[in-house]
Amino acid sequence: MDPRDAILQQVTPTVMVPLYGAFEPLGKLGHRFLSAGNGEWLEVRRSWLYARTRNLSPGAVAKPYGQVTGTIEWLMPAVPVELFKAFAQMARASAPKEAAAWITWNELTGEFSFKPVGVRSASEAAIHFDRPRLDEGEHLVVDLHSHGTGKAFFSSTDDADDRGEVKVSVVLGHCHQERMSTVMRLCLLGKYIALEVESSADGAITFKESNMSKQSSDTGR
Ligand SMILES: [Zn+2]
Repeated sequence: MDPRDAILQQVTPTVMVPLYGAFEPLGKLGHRFLSAGNGEWLEVRRSWLYARTRNLSPGAVAKPYGQVTGTIEWLMPAVPVELFKAFAQMARASAPKEAAAWITWNELTGEFSFKPVGVRSASEAAIHFDRPRLDEGEHLVVDLHSHGTGKAFFSSTDDADDRGEVKVSVVLGHCHQERMSTVMRLCLLGKYIALEVESSADGAITFKESNMSKQSSDTGR
């Protein structure tokens, strides 16, 4: 085997889900593919997240493998609502131009940070920026950008920008209005799962898969 293939397959293997034995979740950081009786799945682990999502529905030929379920497990604390408010203010001040920022979480200190993104050029349609420098143990967890006075949605440009990453992505729109529009999703290496706010108790926000998204994934999206 070409040594490059050996490395690729070792780092990102496809694993057959046992039919009789217990399934052992991915224990280290990274991602792998699961071949299961109920489809092909992507399994991802970061210091702040563990997730499984179905990538493909089962084919016509049954596979003699076990089944897995979709899950999103947050391994970081709830995100302080102040950081979202800081971005809403920034987006309002920038409208009609776009604004962008990151919320990061440091697994060594347990702290969240708000990082305004150095915007090189902002128009009403697109934004180009330099990625913030991160400290040791610090990870991008929420990627925020605004659509100025336009509505919040994930554009084809957003899809292309988010494809290779594992993060929560949030868009704010109608930034000139009292009540802004917003959409949010979990990005898993090109797979997108719509999110909604589960709770904003104690000044911090947790996310969950949106019910609409759940219905479509249950039917083997
Ligand atoms: Zn956008």
